[in-house]
Amino acid sequence: MTHFGTNDHSRRNFIKNSAIGIAGMGIAAPFTSVLAVDKTSLQTKKPGIALVGLGSYSTNQLAPALLETKHCYLAGIVTGTKEKEKVWAEKYNIPAKNIYNYDNFESIASNDDIAIIYVVLPNSMHAEFTIKAAKAGKHVICEKPMAVSVKECNDMIKACKDNNVKLSIGYRLQFSPYHEKMINLNKERPFGKVTYVSSQFGFKIGDPTQWRLKKDLAGGGALMDVGIYCVQAARYTYGQEPVALTAQEFKTDRKKFKEVDETITWQMEFPDGSVSNHTTSYSFGTNHLIVSTEKARGILMPAYSYDGLKGSLNNEILDFDAPNQQAVQMDNFALNVLENTESIISGEEGLKDMKVLEAVYKSLASGNKRVNI
Ligand code: NAD
Repeated sequence: MTHFGTNDHSRRNFIKNSAIGIAGMGIAAPFTSVLAVDKTSLQTKKPGIALVGLGSYSTNQLAPALLETKHCYLAGIVTGTKEKEKVWAEKYNIPAKNIYNYDNFESIASNDDIAIIYVVLPNSMHAEFTIKAAKAGKHVICEKPMAVSVKECNDMIKACKDNNVKLSIGYRLQFSPYHEKMINLNKERPFGKVTYVSSQFGFKIGDPTQWRLKKDLAGGGALMDVGIYCVQAARYTYGQEPVALTAQEFKTDRKKFKEVDETITWQMEFPDGSVSNHTTSYSFGTNHLIVSTEKARGILMPAYSYDGLKGSLNNEILDFDAPNQQAVQMDNFALNVLENTESIISGEEGLKDMKVLEAVYKSLASGNKRVNI
C-alpha cells in the first residue's frame, strides 16, 4: 500500500545495517533480536516461506524483503490467479512443485521445502488459512489484523497449539529501532514513567470497490486496517494492557463507507489511571506516535510507514540507519522456528489487539458508552 511507504527514503542494505544499525548506535536490544546475534551457522537449514495471496503487500514488500533475509527465503506461493504463477516463478526462481492455489492448498502438508506459511489475504480469510496451514503442520505468520473477531483469534491460537506449530502476527514495527526507542521509555525509564500516549494513523483510501470497504472481507474499516497500529503502539509503549475505553465515530461519505467505519476516535484507560488518545481514518492522512513521560517526550512522525520514519526524544533528533522492517520481522520468526522459541509477536498479541478493537465497536454500538475491555 502506498500510504505506508515514503518515496524520499531509499531502502538500505539489510546486512550493512545489521552490523552498524542497532549495534553501532549502542542501543540496548530489548528483544532477542536477529540484529544482535550472529547466526551464520544456521544458514544451511533456512526455513522456506510460502506467501499466500500475492497482492500489494506480498508483491511490493514481502517478496523483495525475502531477498534480504538471512534466515529464511521465498520457497513457494499460493495464488488464485493463474497468470501470477509464471511471473513469480521466473522472478523468484520458484519450482513448479512449490506453487499452489486455494483449492489444492492443503496438499502443501507433504512439501518439505515449505516450513512457514505467510497468510497475506483479506482479513476475513486469515482464520481459515491459518487453521488450514496449522493442520498441514506448517508454522504460520498471519497478517494484521489477526482475524475479524476474538473468537477467530482464539480458534487460530488453538489450532496452532493443537498442531504444535508456531504462530506470529505480521506486526513489523516492534523490530524498528525507532519504535524500540519508544518501547524503552517504559522498559528502562530513562525519563521517569510513561504518563500519556497519543497516536493516530489514517490515509485517504482510493478505489471504492476494493475489499477493504466490504464488511464481509475486511471485518471493519480504518480501525481494523490501520487503527490497530495505534492500539499496538499504546500497549507496547505503556507496557500495560488497557482496561476500558470510550469511542466516537464520524462519517463524511455515507455511500463509500456504507459497510465499514471511516473515522474513529477513541480513548483508552490503563490500570494506573493514565490515558491514551487515538484517531484512525480512511479519509485523511495522519501518522504519529507521541509518548510523554514524566521528564521528556518521544515523538515519531511518520511513525508507521515502511521506511522514512522520523522522530525526536527529549528534543534530540532520532536518526537511525534502519533495516528493512519486513526482513527483520521474518528473520526473527525464522529464528523462532529454528531455535524453538516463541515470537514476541505471538498470536496472543494479535488476540489482545482484537479484544480492544471489539471493545471500540461495542462502545460505538452502545452510543459511545465507556466499556471495559
Ligand atoms: P491486496 O488487495 O493488495 O491483496 C489481497 C490478495 O488477496 C490479492 O492477491 C487477491 O487476489 C487475494 N484474494 C483472495 N481472495 C480474495 C477475495 N475474495 N477478495 C479480494 N482479494 C482476494 O491487499 P494487501 O494490501 O496485500 O493486504 C493483504 C493483507 O495484508 C491484509 O490483511 C492487510 O491488512 C495486510 N497488510 C499488512 C501490512 C503491514 O504493514 N503489515 C501492509 C499492507 C497489508
